[in-house]
This record gives sequence, structure tokens and C-alpha cells, in this order.
Amino acid sequence: MSDGKVKFSVLCSMFNWMQRSKSSTKKRSKFRKFLDNFCKSADDYFSAIRLLLPNLDRERGTYGLKESILATCLIDALGMSRESEDAVRLINWRKGGAKIGANVGNFGLVAAEVLQRRQSLVSGGLTIKELNELLDRLASSENRAEKIAVLSDLIKKTNAQEMKWIVMIILKDLKLGVSEKSIFHEFHPDAEDLFNVTCDLKLVCEKLRDRSQRHKRQDIEIGKAVRPQLALRISNAAAAWKKLHGKEVVVECKFDGDRIQIHKKGAEIHFFSRTFLDHSEYGHAMAQIIQENILVDRCILDGEMLVWDTSTNRFAEFGSNQEIAKAAKEGFDSDRQLCYIAFDILYVGDTSVIHQSLKERHELLWKVVKPLKGRLEILVPNGGLNAHCPSGEPCWSLVAYNVDDVQRFFKETIENRDEGVVLKDLGSKWEPGDRSGKWLKLKPDYVRAGSDLDVLIIGGYYGSGRHGGEIGQFLVGLAERSAPNTYPRRFISFCRVGTGLTDEELHALVTKLKPYFRKNEYPKRTPSFYEVTHNSKERPDVWIESPEKSIILSITSDIRTIKSEAFAAPYSLRFPRIDRVRYDKPWHECLDVQSFMDIVHSSNGN
Ligand code: ATP
Repeated sequence: MSDGKVKFSVLCSMFNWMQRSKSSTKKRSKFRKFLDNFCKSADDYFSAIRLLLPNLDRERGTYGLKESILATCLIDALGMSRESEDAVRLINWRKGGAKIGANVGNFGLVAAEVLQRRQSLVSGGLTIKELNELLDRLASSENRAEKIAVLSDLIKKTNAQEMKWIVMIILKDLKLGVSEKSIFHEFHPDAEDLFNVTCDLKLVCEKLRDRSQRHKRQDIEIGKAVRPQLALRISNAAAAWKKLHGKEVVVECKFDGDRIQIHKKGAEIHFFSRTFLDHSEYGHAMAQIIQENILVDRCILDGEMLVWDTSTNRFAEFGSNQEIAKAAKEGFDSDRQLCYIAFDILYVGDTSVIHQSLKERHELLWKVVKPLKGRLEILVPNGGLNAHCPSGEPCWSLVAYNVDDVQRFFKETIENRDEGVVLKDLGSKWEPGDRSGKWLKLKPDYVRAGSDLDVLIIGGYYGSGRHGGEIGQFLVGLAERSAPNTYPRRFISFCRVGTGLTDEELHALVTKLKPYFRKNEYPKRTPSFYEVTHNSKERPDVWIESPEKSIILSITSDIRTIKSEAFAAPYSLRFPRIDRVRYDKPWHECLDVQSFMDIVHSSNGN
């Protein structure tokens, strides 16, 4: 086989085989055979491996095609009517259409089902090189029409099986049941290490094409993203302390923002995310601050990008970074601004410092970064001495001498900020891509699996899209604990939940509750048995006339409790979903606030 001629159909056969096989060893040896028999050059290796590990490929931009947009683009590329049964099936891939098929919930399989009825069985003979060129075109095309044109070109050149895999490549998840680690190790024993310090798949394929040649461990470089060191989850402070036994330990606040590596190389600045994308949009708000307050010409900082609210003097809730970056670009004035918290330093001048101890790196960090309140912060342990601590608030990091120090700091942190803490061994190196436990994270929010939360529906919100004109989401509440042997009389708003039910289940529930909906129209007051905040986001469109008429929902969540500002209960859930409608459970068996708090605390291991 000559260079560049590997057929995509060959790769697809390997994908199909891997997907069917249960043995990870066999999957690896199949991959080895594929490499030995079909790939002859670094180009071939890269062409194939980037299709196998699409989430690691940064050579082409993003496609801008999540399932819902991809569905409509495919419908147009196939020339189908949007109303046709198959089009509805694709659009409703998550929930199924009128008929619920076995593939519901897996976009690739739903697409394969639809494609099978429209494409021939014969492979079009596309090579992986040609496929990569078409995918480059797909990523660089600027509008929907161009994307549709590329997709229809792909459809013409493939059969349904091949197209199914292309769809999965576009969605960057092949679901092959083989780890990235195995793929790397099978390719070359040094591949994972080299990838971790460069995040560059092409370079890995070029440098390591000869499996018999070992590669000298490479250090990190400015301008090339490094795979971040990660934290291992630990259930409680005592376990964390035990694991770090005998070490000098620093406990840091776990900030809830975006993990960003700042690479400063003179005037050039990169903001690499955890998935090694360069977020140049942060440059508008941050470049000047970095130039003026980072006192060396070249360095790599590791830290978290957040939004600081100058009106409340605290960090804004997670999720507003992009919005604030955009506002800064457009020159809008706001109380909110981007703020970078540097908690580590990886490179200074011409030298990588990841091999030095964290203690030494901290000292470098303090020398190199001049903090600027609410814009560029650094962590200084035992911040009583730290002028940059917001006055009156506990500080962001602490050297711990015993488990009580950890426990106290953890409690203070969650009372004040939500996310939890990260414990680090001050003697440890910074390890690219490591999650083996040199950093431990302790969070307040793991409500143990199995503890479903049975909450009462107290209001409803009109839905959008398919649910337009109907209630599509609910405001649920927790009961205020009542005297023994009495029913609760008040319900405290807890969270808003909409996902988890099928269309049919939602429809049945709404039909049952409809007779008791009362419009929440201004200036009508909140029914006296419900307690809510004045946050407008929370106010439902309808109330349930009275708790006795309502229904209990079992909800689960990711499960991350967040300290609640929008809701009346002290904690709320992030990403809650309805597990079941509890028609069998009477309204008064709703979980009460105290029991919920007990669940939260016991899941902290307190
Ligand atoms: P989570 O959902 O708990 O944030 P994760 O999988 O995103 O988990 P982890 O490796 O488990 O990430 O936790 C480390 C993450 O915590 C880092 O990627 C970083 O974004 C964030 N973080 C916040 N504060 C710190 C800190 N002081 N030190 C290290 N990481 C921190």
C-alpha cells in the first residue's frame, strides 16, 4: 500500500470490530495490526489517529455542529423534508419520535438508521486522507450552506456505515470502549508522555513513528498547551489527610471557573483551556493587565479564570466568563470583570519549573506576578498576612498542620464560596495530565447515589420549542419541618427542573396538574404556604393552587449542590433531572430542608 492511500473503509472495519469486542487487549492488538499493515508514513499515522481520537485533534478548528444542528444539516444534505418521519427521528434523537426505537439517545445510531435507508451499501472508496481534507473543509466553512454542501459530498462518497462513523467523528466521541491511554501505548510507549507536554497529535505522530526508538522525555514549552494536572476526588478531610500523611500540605480554595494556562511570550499571549483550545477572546480584557503585572517576559501560569463582581465584591457564579469576555471586547461597562487567579507557575524565562517543588514554585509565582485586586490574583497561604484577601473574608489558601485545619478551612470555604478545596503536597512536582492523587479535591456536593430527593412541585414554567404554550419545567420545593405527626404547612423553593421525562410522561403530569394551576400574575402575591426569594428568575408562570393538590418528583442531580441565591432553600442543585414522578407518594412525604441539609453534610463526610 502506498503512502496516503489508506481507505476509510478499512478504518471503519476496525471501528466496527472494536465496538463489538469486549476485550481491551484484543482491541489494542487489532489497532497494532492496522498500524503495521496499512500505515506507512507519519502522515498515515496522523491521518488515522486523529480520526480515532478526534477529541484530541487541534489541527483543525471546531465544526460548530452539535447534535441538534448536525441533525438539521444532515436532513438538508439528504434532501429530506423536515416533517418526514426520519427527519423527526433525527431531531428527536434524544427522546424518540412517535415510535421510540432502540437507538434513541445515541445520535450516531439514529443517524445510521436514517442513512441506511438512503445510502448504498457499497463503499465509495474514500481514503482517510480525502476524508480529513473534507473534514477540514467542514470545519473551515463559514456558513450553514457550505457545511451542508460538504456533508452532502461526504454522503455521496460513503456508505451508511462509513457515514455513521463520520458523524461520530464530527461529534468527537466514537464510543469504541478503548481508552486513549491504550491507543497511545499501542502506538508508541512514549506517545502519552509526549502528548501530555505538547497537546499536539501531529507532532506525536511525526516524532514517534518508529516504535522501536525510545524518545527522550520532553519538557514543556511556552506556546504549546500542557495537559493540566488534575485532582483526585476524596470523600472527606480525614481520608485526605491520611493520604497525604507526613507531607507538608497546602489547602486551597477550589474556584469555580475555567482552568486556564496563560502562556506569555513577550507580546504574544495564549489562554489555553483544559481541552487545549486557545481562548484568544480573553485577550481583550486581560492582555494589558498581564503585560503590566507579570514581571517577566516569558512564563506559563496555571490557574482559574473567573468573573469578579465589583458591586458584591465576590466571584460571580460559574458560567459567565464568555459573556464578560464578549462585553469587554465590545467595550461595555459592567460591574463584572474577568479575574485570573494564578495558583501555580510552570515556566519562567527559559526554564521549565515543573520539576521543582510546589513550595519553590509558589515563591517564584509571588515574585513574578504583581497581584491586582479583582483582576489578577495569586494564592498566598495563611492569607491573614495577605493584603489581597477580601477584607473580613477567610483567605484562599492555608498551610495545614493537622486534619482540623483542613476541616475548618473546608467548612469556611463552603460556607463562603461553594466549590470546596484542593489539597496539595507542597513537596510535589507538577505532573502533566496526572490525576493520581498529588492533588486531592474535597467538595461539599456529592449527595450519595441512591439518595433520590423527593420534592414537591409548587409551580410551573411555560416551555419553549416543542413545549411552547405548555408547562415544560417545574419549580419544586422542600418542606419546612413540621411538628411530629403533623403535615408540613410550608414549602421552600428549591430548584427548577425540566429534563428527565419523556414527552408522554410530561404530558400526563401536566394534564393531572392543570386544574390546579393558578397564574402568577403581578401583583398577585405568592401563596402563603410557599416561600420564595424575590429573584425574578425563580418566579414561576403558574403556582399550584395548594400543596395537597400537588405531586412529588424524585430528582437526582450531577450531583452538585450550589449555595442558593435564586431560591429560598439554603442549597440548590446544579443540573437536576427528574428521575420519576411519584404518583404513589403523598404530597406530605416531601423531603424537608433539614433532612436535605443532613444529606449534604453527610456526603461531605462530616
Ligand atoms: P470538577 O467538576 O470537580 O471541577 P474537574 O474534573 O473539572 O472537576 P478536577 O481535576 O477534578 O477537575 O479538579 C481540578 C479542577 O479544579 C482544575 O481543573 C481547576 O479548574 C479547578 N480548580 C479550582 N481551584 C483550584 C486550585 N486552587 N487548584 C487546582 N485546581 C483548581
